[in-house]
Formats: sequence, structure tokens, C-alpha cells
Amino acid sequence: MTERIKQEDRQYIANTYGRFDLLLTRGKGAKAWDDAGKEYIDMGAGIAVNTFGYGDDEWVRAVTDQLGRLQHASNLYYTEPQVLLAKLLCEKTGMEKVFFGNSGAEANECAIKTARKYGTDKYGPERNVIITLKDSFHGRTITTLAATGQDAFHTHFTPFTEGFVHAAPNDLAAMEEAMENPRVCAVLLELIQGEGGLRVLDPDYVKGVAALAKEKDILLMIDEVQTGNGRTGALYCYMNYGLEPDVVSTAKGLAGGLPMGAVLFNGKTRATLGAGDHGSTFGGNPVCAAGALSVIDRIDDALLAGVRRKGAYIREKLEKHPAVGSVSGMGLMLGIQTKKDAKAVCARALEKGLLVLTAKDKVRLLPALNIPDPLLEEGLEILQSILDE
Ligand SMILES: *Cc1c(COP(=O)(O)O)cnc(C)c1O
Repeated sequence: MTERIKQEDRQYIANTYGRFDLLLTRGKGAKAWDDAGKEYIDMGAGIAVNTFGYGDDEWVRAVTDQLGRLQHASNLYYTEPQVLLAKLLCEKTGMEKVFFGNSGAEANECAIKTARKYGTDKYGPERNVIITLKDSFHGRTITTLAATGQDAFHTHFTPFTEGFVHAAPNDLAAMEEAMENPRVCAVLLELIQGEGGLRVLDPDYVKGVAALAKEKDILLMIDEVQTGNGRTGALYCYMNYGLEPDVVSTAKGLAGGLPMGAVLFNGKTRATLGAGDHGSTFGGNPVCAAGALSVIDRIDDALLAGVRRKGAYIREKLEKHPAVGSVSGMGLMLGIQTKKDAKAVCARALEKGLLVLTAKDKVRLLPALNIPDPLLEEGLEILQSILDE
């Protein structure tokens, strides 16, 4: 059975993924099981998507209630979950309007369109260049690949979308120089580069970028696809930095396991996109919106304090391990520089019943935000035992 599924996966699924040799069949909380009944402690949460783990009762209830009522309507009509979610997001962030899509890449596409429309409406057709950072990751569409500041993503698929400049992260002079170009309409930043290796942007650098952008009326756009929705110990990571962004994109953990992306606009950008300028058939789908509503509603001060406490605990435990170089990140988005090869650690963890991720040369942890302390402890013990080997 298992072998047949794996073989047919290779036969019928496009070759775009290198999969681990693991067939997951069910999960509950921060635990998952494979087809042979072997149990895993999951410290990856489907790449920061399963905010409250697998099959969380409250989330399942919210989603299935909506599923039985109205699964989809299209954006030709009003639906309530989408409105409630947008209102809640605005109330909790101080942003003023929301656009819903279905993924991180689409959220960034919307942010990019907003930036270009803002710049060209106000300053003429040449104002369309967006600055992003080296080692960033913004998605897999042609335009978000162009935005992504990693050459490895720029080898095929030409011609790419024009109008992106990549600046060195944590280098304010480089940013200042890039912003001298009068064609620049926006800067798009991940505050913690996720796929790019868990690099945390320096608070002084970020404040400097924000001040320069404000002075030049360049939009400050934060890609919170991975850092958002409680992951870093604040509802959105920009709150850890005391920023007031003009545009925020998010996805991954937003709907707790259902595909949903969102773009939040502040007072400056709330009216940039008008009727017909953008859209999505599935965007704001009632089932995904009901799931997201239950997730965002539960990300309160107590939960966020728990995320920070657990993150600090992991850090404290691992930082003193002799086989660990450093631990970077915030909250429950952590990158561990290990003396052992990160991919080997990840593969060994799988054998020992622990799911972890990598980010460049680091082991990456993104557990469910409500992972119980004893499971976290158990997971860390497995990880430490691998580092000891
Ligand atoms: C995952 C990710 C994306 C892309 O999201 P998809 O849902 O895969 O399109 C974009 N930006 C960041 C920072 C991400 O981590």
C-alpha cells in the first residue's frame, strides 16, 4: 500500500518536490502518524501553516459549521465570514482594509500591484521599482520570483518581471543608495528571512529603512507570510519592531491549515486599488475565512506570551548545547546553526519520530503555537540526542 502510493506519486505527481520518505495519514495537536502507525512530534507544522496543530477541536468546529452552511459564493456577493475576518484583522492591527487571496505568493502579487499603482498614480508611469533584500523569498510566481533576492531562483523562466532591485540586508547605506532612484515606489521586506536562512533584520536598520521610506513617500511593505499570525510572539512581526507599515502581506498560518492569503492596507494605501484593479475567484472563501476567524480570534496576549516563553525555552536549551553554533529567530520561528549538516539532522530526526525543517544551512523549528510543554520537551530531547550522536 505505502509503496504503491509512493510509486504512483512519482508516476503521476509533477516532479517539483523532493519528498521525505514519509507518508502521513493523520494528526492530532502537535503529533502526527504515518501509515504504519509510527508517531511523530511535529515541530514544522506544515511549514508554519497548522497554527494550532492538527485537528484542533475549535478550528474544526468553525470550519465544518461553515462548510455545511455555504462553502463558496464568489466575490460577486457579500458573505459574512470574510467581513468578520477583515474587521477583526483591522481592529487588531490598526490597518484599514484587507484584500483576500489564497497563498503567500498571491498576497505578495497584490502588494506589488498596490505599490506600482500607488507610485504611478501619484508620480507618473516611471515610478514602479520595488526594492527587496538579498536572500529574501517572496513566492514562486514569475513576479514574486523576480522579487526574490536569490540567484538560485533566477535560472529558468526568463523573461522575469522587471522593476526589482535587491539590496544587501542590514546595510542601511546600501538601502539609502537604492532609494536614491526616483523610480522607487516601495520596499518589500521579510523582518525575519525564513527560507533565506532565518536571518533576523536588525531593529536599527529596520527603523532606518522605515524613516527613509517615509521621507521619500516610498511604501513600506512587510512580507509576513511566514512571520505573521502569532508566529514570532506578536500578532505580526512588525509589531515587535514598532513599525507602521503601509502594506502587510500574510498567508501560511492565517487560516490554520486552509489556503488563504491576505493583504492589509493602512490609511495611505486603503484606496489605491479600486474596482476591477484586482480580484480572486476563491479569495476570502467562506470556509477559509471561518477557519482564519477562529485562528486570529484566539491569538491573544496569553497565547502570544506562551509563544515567547516557549521560544525562549528552546533557545536557552539549545544555545548551550556544544554542537549548536547559534540560534536565531523570534518566538516559535527559530533557526539552529548546528555543527552537523542540517539536512542530515532533519533526516535523522524523522527516523527518531521528530519532524523538523531546514532553512539554508540551519535546522528550522516552526511548531504549532499551542504545542504542549511536555511535547516540546520531548521533541527537544530527541533533537539533542541527535546532536549528541
Ligand atoms: C512561504 C512564503 C511565501 C510564499 O507563499 P506560498 O503560499 O507558498 O505562495 C512568500 N513569502 C514568504 C516570506 C514565505 O515564507
